Amino acid sequence: MPESYESTNTHSSSNFGCTHYRRRCKIIAPCCNEVFDCRHCHNEAKNSDEIKPDCRHDIPRHEVKKIICTLCDTEQDVQQNCINCGVCLGKYFCGTCKFFDDDISKQQYHCDECGICRTGGSDNFFHCKKCGCCYSVEIKEGHNCVERAMHHNCPICFEYLFDTLREISVLTCGHTIHFECVKEMEKHHRYSCPVCSKSICDMSSVWKNLDEMLSSTPMSESYKNKKVWILCNDCGVNSHVQFHIVAHKCLSCNSYNTRQIQIVPSSSCSSRVEEMIK
Ligand SMILES: [Zn+2]
Ligand SMILES: [Zn+2]
Ligand SMILES: [Zn+2]
Ligand SMILES: [Zn+2]
Ligand SMILES: [Zn+2]
Ligand SMILES: [Zn+2]
Ligand SMILES: [Zn+2]
Ligand SMILES: [Zn+2]
Repeated sequence: MPESYESTNTHSSSNFGCTHYRRRCKIIAPCCNEVFDCRHCHNEAKNSDEIKPDCRHDIPRHEVKKIICTLCDTEQDVQQNCINCGVCLGKYFCGTCKFFDDDISKQQYHCDECGICRTGGSDNFFHCKKCGCCYSVEIKEGHNCVERAMHHNCPICFEYLFDTLREISVLTCGHTIHFECVKEMEKHHRYSCPVCSKSICDMSSVWKNLDEMLSSTPMSESYKNKKVWILCNDCGVNSHVQFHIVAHKCLSCNSYNTRQIQIVPSSSCSSRVEEMIK
């Protein structure tokens, strides 16, 4: 699209950099030897529909060897100040990631264990070895660790989470998902983890509302004796409960995050299970 191309150009010439970062250098991609403003510009261009599927690729960011100063056009090794004109190429500079950004309000820091630069301030984040990622110190105590929780795609939008630029939510179960994608789920009244089906947050107030709603809408006479088996997505226990059109409540943990199941245990067994659950 010529229109968007032009606006990007105007933007970069006035502020130095691209839509992603403010900086005074371009990078030479080691993979295809082409010049780009930043790795995202490279990845967007090289994974676009115009590129043949078997030629699409991401830049190996740590392998960038050469950069070009935007002010004096001098090609040089990766460093913070231009060897020719001396300009600072980016106020934040990481020699490991070959990363430059003038906007230090993002509070960039390099995490050795992640192996990449992150934003948000090193004081506000800690690296969890089991989850394999940096998380907010707010959840340092008592988050559920999931092996390499961030090394997969968001279950809603399928973007790879580990180096996403967007904010991440760690659900109660420990699975991870974009903050915006959780909001989108909530808009559609989905409150269970798309990976493991457990409730995504404390739902006790919602369950209370459902309690009231169910007691105010009794099922018609014809359903009075209909009972169904349910499996609780939160605690994994099966219950035999009165059928209700709205929802079924787990007898073990009181969650309504349950699903009806078809496997009906034999009658002798069923009464015993009921007794156990009581
Ligand atoms: Zn860029
Ligand atoms: Zn220069
Ligand atoms: Zn870095
Ligand atoms: Zn980290
Ligand atoms: Zn963890
Ligand atoms: Zn997402
Ligand atoms: Zn989950
Ligand atoms: Zn339960």
